[in-house]
Amino acid sequence: MTLFKNTKLIFMAVVLIFIFNQYDYAYSKPKKEKQAPAAVQTAGESMTGSIEWNVVMHDDNNNDKLSKQFRTWWYVRLDGVIKGNESVIHIQGDGFKGGVIVVPVYSYDNEIWHRFNPKDITSDEITDGLYNYTIRKKFNVSGKVWIARYYPYQYSRLENLLKKYKKDKFAKIEKIGASAQGRAIKMISITDPSFPDKNKRRVWIHSRTHPSETGSSFIIEGLIDYLLSESTKCSGIAALDKIIYNIVPMVNVDGVVLGNARVSPGTSYDLERMWIRDKKTQYELRETCPPEVKAMHKAIKRLNKKGPAFFAALNIHSKNAAPLWRSFIYTNFYSNFDKKNKVYGEQGDSLFVKQLMFAKLMTDAMCKDSFYVRPSFESNAPISKKTFPEAWWWINYKDKVMAATLETTSGSDGCYEELITYKDHFHMGRTIAEAMKMLSKYYVEQEWFRYENPPGEMKDLLPYYRYGKKNSKTSDTKKKRKKSEKK
Ligand SMILES: [Zn+2]
Repeated sequence: MTLFKNTKLIFMAVVLIFIFNQYDYAYSKPKKEKQAPAAVQTAGESMTGSIEWNVVMHDDNNNDKLSKQFRTWWYVRLDGVIKGNESVIHIQGDGFKGGVIVVPVYSYDNEIWHRFNPKDITSDEITDGLYNYTIRKKFNVSGKVWIARYYPYQYSRLENLLKKYKKDKFAKIEKIGASAQGRAIKMISITDPSFPDKNKRRVWIHSRTHPSETGSSFIIEGLIDYLLSESTKCSGIAALDKIIYNIVPMVNVDGVVLGNARVSPGTSYDLERMWIRDKKTQYELRETCPPEVKAMHKAIKRLNKKGPAFFAALNIHSKNAAPLWRSFIYTNFYSNFDKKNKVYGEQGDSLFVKQLMFAKLMTDAMCKDSFYVRPSFESNAPISKKTFPEAWWWINYKDKVMAATLETTSGSDGCYEELITYKDHFHMGRTIAEAMKMLSKYYVEQEWFRYENPPGEMKDLLPYYRYGKKNSKTSDTKKKRKKSEKK
């Protein structure tokens, strides 16, 4: 009860929710944005002391067969906040522990968001592998405050972004299919139309397969805004005379709209693992694959047939990770490089080198110590048994396409020892464009200026490979800083 000892009156507001609905429940052409639901107050009339809320999470689709770690989303409104009084918010049943791993955000207007201070959060007990944590904060307003596990990025925000570029000559927006519940899955293609496509190469990017991973959407917005800014188009700096971007910004639209954390509404499909190949061809997918996956596959097939070919494919996610992890891409090829008995042959090594190079180029374009290649926990299992998109790319294109899952994190993921914000994600979008331009120079055009640095050798690239929980480089820096602080 120490929790309450300084309060004159305890107001148990309370108890709900969830994993929140980000849009509305219409099954097709959703038009009206729905607000974050309020945590419902069940007692009390006036208050002078602390106010408490409980936010109780449940599984996507109430499906208790799903991994507990999938519980990674909540977004609610607090009503009745009193300026200067302590608000106490109990988050119950999160898939990851609070404290330094989950540092939620708050907003006074549901538009501009701020991170809580990690000191505002205390981790409570773990129940059945689910974490409970408490946020304590004196807000600067009375009335409404919105809180979310991470910066929200709604379906409507993407719609507005695409609307902005509807008439842009460098952009083409098309519907490539419909979700299980009938919502449009859109693709935006970006290139300089005054140069013939036949001399270009394609980059495939898709994002937001997992609805809670909003960081991936901010990256996409940063990328699109950068590619279509007047200065980029006028200067030719993004090499849009040589590259066509085919971007699917939001794969699991139903999950985003209905506020799921990871899987599709209804079916509970994890769309990341539903690229189930036809046994004979390995290029076609099974007829039973979900429509979101089939829509992307159909678009890739059509674009490939039409030409030009793809040289890179990014699958963008946003992970709960140890606080000192930076953004990274997953590889399945380190073990191939490391062993004499090369399961994936020379092409496996070649793809690994390209992945390392991409990490180096991302770091060069962003800031030192910012981007790595990491082994997937599944990386020792044969890719031929996997059903994620990179397995499809590998089996059909080998090292011709630098295919990888890019994971940004929600921890200290920027260029400094600070928690990442959506602005870092925007910047990472621009960074992808800069890295892709160089990747194209090195591996497609094979032509670059001296000051652009030639591709390094393996020994120069291996420092971009990391494994284990910590980012050792950063830990060293931190240790040094602590030492100097002591002095
Ligand atoms: Zn993900």
